[in-house]
Amino acid sequence: MNYCASCCQPDTRPQIIFKDGICGACLWEEEKKKIDWRGRELHLKEIAEVAQDKARQRGTYDCALGVSGGKDSLFTALYAKLKLHLNCLLVSAAPDQITEVGQRNFDNLVNHGFDCIRIFVNPDVAKRLMREEFIKYCHFRKANEFPLWASVYTVAKEKNIPLIIQGENAALTLGASKNMNIDWDASTIYKTNTLGGEDAIKHFSYAFPNQLFLFKYPDLSDWDGKAIWLNYFVKEWSQHGNAQFSMARGLQIRDDSLDAIGRIHKWTSLDSDFHIVSQMHKYFKYSFGFVTDEVCYDIRENRLSREEGFELIKKYDGKCDRKYIQKFCDFIGIPEEEHWRILKRFVKYDPWNRWQEMSII
Ligand SMILES: [Zn+2]
Repeated sequence: MNYCASCCQPDTRPQIIFKDGICGACLWEEEKKKIDWRGRELHLKEIAEVAQDKARQRGTYDCALGVSGGKDSLFTALYAKLKLHLNCLLVSAAPDQITEVGQRNFDNLVNHGFDCIRIFVNPDVAKRLMREEFIKYCHFRKANEFPLWASVYTVAKEKNIPLIIQGENAALTLGASKNMNIDWDASTIYKTNTLGGEDAIKHFSYAFPNQLFLFKYPDLSDWDGKAIWLNYFVKEWSQHGNAQFSMARGLQIRDDSLDAIGRIHKWTSLDSDFHIVSQMHKYFKYSFGFVTDEVCYDIRENRLSREEGFELIKKYDGKCDRKYIQKFCDFIGIPEEEHWRILKRFVKYDPWNRWQEMSII
C-alpha cells in the first residue's frame, strides 16, 4: 500500500489516479490555483439563464437538485436560489432508517423556501438488496445509491426541467477519475465508483425485477437539458466552507464521539447511521476509511500537516460504534456474528489492527 507524497491518499482507492507519486485530488487542488474562476462563474450564469428561458417557455422549474439535507445540499440549494436566482425543485431519495438529526436538517433545508419531492424505496426491497450486496460484495450501499442518484434525473426528465445541479464531483475532489468526467457534465453520474456504469435492473436481477423503477437511471437521450457539477464552477466549494456556511443556516451536526463514528468532523453522514458502518467496511476492504478522506481534504486546504493527518488516521480510521453495527444487522436481518464472518472474507490488510479492537470472533 502506497500513499500520495503530498497527502494521505492510498493507492488502494478504486479508480484513483496518480502522476509522479501525486494523487489526482492533489493535482486538482494545484489546478484550481490556475483556473479562471471569474470565467467559470460567467459560464455558470449563462447556463442558468438558458435554463430559465427554456423553463419559462415550458412552464416548469428552472432546475432540479438532488439533495439529502446535509451541508453540501444546503450550500448548493441556496447557491442556486440566491446567487443564480433559479426556481428550484429539490428531489430527495430518503435514506433507510433516517436519523433524527437527518430529518431535522432535511426540514431545515426545505424551510429555506423550496418545493421538494421525496422518494421512499420500499423497505422490504431495500433490506433484501442491502443484505445480498453485503454478502456478495461487502458493499451494501450500492443498493441505496442507485435510487439516490437516479431520482433527480428521473424527475427532471419527467417534468421536462432543463437543468440539474449536483454538488461535488468526487472524480475531482477524491481524485478517483479513471472512468469519470472531470468537466462540468454530471449526466454520466452512473459511472461513479458505487454505480460502476451498471444498469440497476440487470445488477439486481436476482430479486424484485418488477419493483425496481426507482433504481433505474433513465435514458437521457431525448432529454433536452444539462446536468452540471457545482464544484466545477465555484471556487469557494469546500468541505469546511460548506459546513460552516450550512451550520450558520441551521444545519445540526452529530453529537457522537469521534471513536463512535470513525471520523474527525461531525458534519457528515448526518442522515444515516448505516453510512458509518459502510465506511468501516470500506476500511477492511480497501485498508482506508472515512478519516483518510477527511484528513486529505484538510491537508489540501492547509488545515493539517501530512504527519498530523496520519496520526488522526491511526487514531480514528475504520472505527464504528457497536450500536451502529447491531442496528445494521437488525435491519438486514443477519446475526452480528454472521456480519463479522462475512466481513472477514474481505479483509485485505488492516493497517491499524482494527480487527483486534472491534471484532467478536
Ligand atoms: Zn494527494
